[in-house]
Amino acid sequence: MENINWKEFGFGYTKTDYNVRCHYRDGKWGELEVSSSDQINVHIASTGLHYGQQAFEGLKAFKGPDGKVRVFRIDENGKRLQSSSHGIMMAEMPLDLFREAVIKAIKLNERWIPPYESGASLYIRPVLFGNGAQVGVKASEEYTFAVFVMPVGPYFKEGFKPTDYVIYREYDRAAPQGTGIYKVGGNYAASLRGGNRAHAEGFSAVLFLDAKEKKYIDECGPANFFGIKNNTYVTPKSNTILPSITNKSLCQIAEDLGMNVERRPITVDELADFSEAGACGTAAVISPIRKIVDADNNIDYKYGDEAGEISFKLYETLRGIQYGTVEDKHNWNTIIEF
Ligand SMILES: *Cc1c(COP(=O)(O)O)cnc(C)c1O
Repeated sequence: MENINWKEFGFGYTKTDYNVRCHYRDGKWGELEVSSSDQINVHIASTGLHYGQQAFEGLKAFKGPDGKVRVFRIDENGKRLQSSSHGIMMAEMPLDLFREAVIKAIKLNERWIPPYESGASLYIRPVLFGNGAQVGVKASEEYTFAVFVMPVGPYFKEGFKPTDYVIYREYDRAAPQGTGIYKVGGNYAASLRGGNRAHAEGFSAVLFLDAKEKKYIDECGPANFFGIKNNTYVTPKSNTILPSITNKSLCQIAEDLGMNVERRPITVDELADFSEAGACGTAAVISPIRKIVDADNNIDYKYGDEAGEISFKLYETLRGIQYGTVEDKHNWNTIIEF
């Protein structure tokens, strides 16, 4: 193919050939539109710009050794965008339209789908926001949906290596009855200050605690948390955590591997009982955790300098399903026909 150097991609923005848009006006969704511009028209008085009426999604497509292109659990992302839309009163996009827009964006950028050998994949970023003039505080009557794709490099350039996380009690990501369960930009804005400090202090991310009691594990910045103990996969249950599709898939895989799965509140103290811990999400599947530093209490929870056996097995299985080298028992992949 053309001279694309697949090795040069990290997670930074790369302009590809086309993106797909769709507008909601007069109570209905319009036709899908294709654009080669990466600029978008935003009304100066839009609710997306002023009041944070905005949500996004993130998913990936993978080219397998068989040459087939697979998108992972596209309908789960479509449903989650509907849930986020419902949560902040945006127009909900029908699942079929979401699917069609995502698949169209992939197909139009076929030459940007990294080959299997590169270890890279195609990241897909749908976004939806209120885009009608609305200065009084209420939901917009007009929305813009857009989806772009870009190649992203393998997350683990130096292998599947654990990194460090930190607990700070002076930052909250989401309030107990707030928008933590929705994939909205506002949660990210709230996490930036803590995340920035974590990076400056040498950590991968903040492990946020529940905002009310500071007693339970919430999530790791933009990823869910899990711990392993006694052949059990334990992940927090709470009404402030974004329901990660990767986490949901790992729970199923853990079960398929004969493990127990527990979704329940996890106290900070329980961090001492896990033999392995990790952060999970689309970007990395699993980022194994080396240690969690509770700076306020001078405690380090340590999980080893190498990734644990179970984390590695879960990671390999999920990646294998995505690339088509492990049987897709639960029909998670959509194969794109070109
Ligand atoms: C997107 C996201 C995740 C990961 O979800 P996946 O569906 O696994 O990619 C986790 N936490 C937050 C806050 C997120 O926004």
